[in-house]
Amino acid sequence: MSVENVMKIIKDNDAKFVSMRFTDTRGMVQHLGWPVSNFSEELFEEDIMFDGSSIAGWQPINESDMAMRLDPHSAVIDPFAQETTVIIRCSIYNPIKGDGIADTAYFGPEPEFFVFDGVRWASGMDSVFYEINSYEGAWNSAQDFDEGPNLGHRPGVKGGYFPVPPIDSMSDLRAAMCQAMMDMGVTVEKHHHEVGTAGQAEIGIKYNTLVRMADQTQSYKYCVKNVAAAHGMTATFMPKPLVGDNGSGMHTHQSLFKDGKSLFVGDMHCGLSQEALYYIGGIFKHARALNAFTNPSTNSYKRLVPGFEAPVLLQYSSFNRSASCRIPFSPEAGRRVEVRFPDPLANPYLAYSAMLLAGLDGIKNKFDPGLPTELDLYELSSADEKAIPHVAASLAEALAALDSDRDFLKAGNVFTDNTIDSYIDLLTEDVKAMQLVTHPLEFEMYYSG
Ligand code: GLU
Ligand code: MG
Ligand code: MG
Repeated sequence: MSVENVMKIIKDNDAKFVSMRFTDTRGMVQHLGWPVSNFSEELFEEDIMFDGSSIAGWQPINESDMAMRLDPHSAVIDPFAQETTVIIRCSIYNPIKGDGIADTAYFGPEPEFFVFDGVRWASGMDSVFYEINSYEGAWNSAQDFDEGPNLGHRPGVKGGYFPVPPIDSMSDLRAAMCQAMMDMGVTVEKHHHEVGTAGQAEIGIKYNTLVRMADQTQSYKYCVKNVAAAHGMTATFMPKPLVGDNGSGMHTHQSLFKDGKSLFVGDMHCGLSQEALYYIGGIFKHARALNAFTNPSTNSYKRLVPGFEAPVLLQYSSFNRSASCRIPFSPEAGRRVEVRFPDPLANPYLAYSAMLLAGLDGIKNKFDPGLPTELDLYELSSADEKAIPHVAASLAEALAALDSDRDFLKAGNVFTDNTIDSYIDLLTEDVKAMQLVTHPLEFEMYYSG
């Protein structure tokens, strides 16, 4: 969209405000409200300054002025604002430019989420307790599986996928979420209840180029959270809110094109090209460092365990959901790799860029991902399992891997040592915070042990 078009949208809709948005290191969207009376075309040519010192992981206070540049392509009317508001995001550097292997990278994420009535927190001196009430009313406590209420007319554990209403009581809510996304320019393909028991959902959206898709991922979350809030609910992208049930992933489909032609179609395993296999090789080689971006919370690693359709082992397969990378059945134009370890707490700009850089590094250095597997990887003997590389087991492990495996991220100046160091420092705060908390389960295991 051109600057003229943006000005026309503002005028035609009689917009009163522009919401200038950017995503912070943790993936949260931040914004500045800007009255239209003070907005002009010239602003697209200017650095818009703001105080970066209050944004976690950004500038120290003594060098806190930061600049953002408006990206006219991202302009869209905010479906939730009372006064008509146009959202414009600031631009992010696209890492594919200039490396010659491809000219376009497509990304198609599948963020999953849970909707709950609310979450009540009580924080004591040395422990934190929580209680979750699901949207579908199934749970009073995340821990009480055996003593929950009668589930006769509700989805059971892992039973959410995908009966019609009234068992699926979220259908109207998801439809409203889809409508809001479409109002914001996201192409919605489908919506459905996910496998998780209580209020887990997924909305399928059409793939796009890296930065556009990262923008749309933020619109996705914005719509899900605001529609849930408008219904008196909360939506969470936390990867593992319920113990013993499926978590929420953000599988990310990826493909590379050059001169309008897919680089991933070929006659190697699963109908892939050699480049596609090397791309997977790069993802696997750097997976544990990537986890710091794709799985950026202490909770993320509670999802990456066997038995819940989330991957642990770095293997690829054409239909096996226990593998870290799946090659979905598709016609040639849609040939792609689906990386299954990411989760929706990831900052999409950082996570997509990091995965792309890992894949490109795989192509440059011809990293071989080995043979595909069709085994159920949850059923392997422990000796076989040990022989296969794993994703990181904890946030601390992922941050250590990122610290020692960072050179692939510096191609094209996308990440600098400074940004990587600040990122590690910021997320280490979460690791330390968790280390200090006495977990309720520890009372069960050790109190009278
Ligand atoms: N919820 C599962 C995960 O944590 C994925 C289920 C699916 O295959 O869509 O990755
Ligand atoms: Mg899913
Ligand atoms: Mg998937």
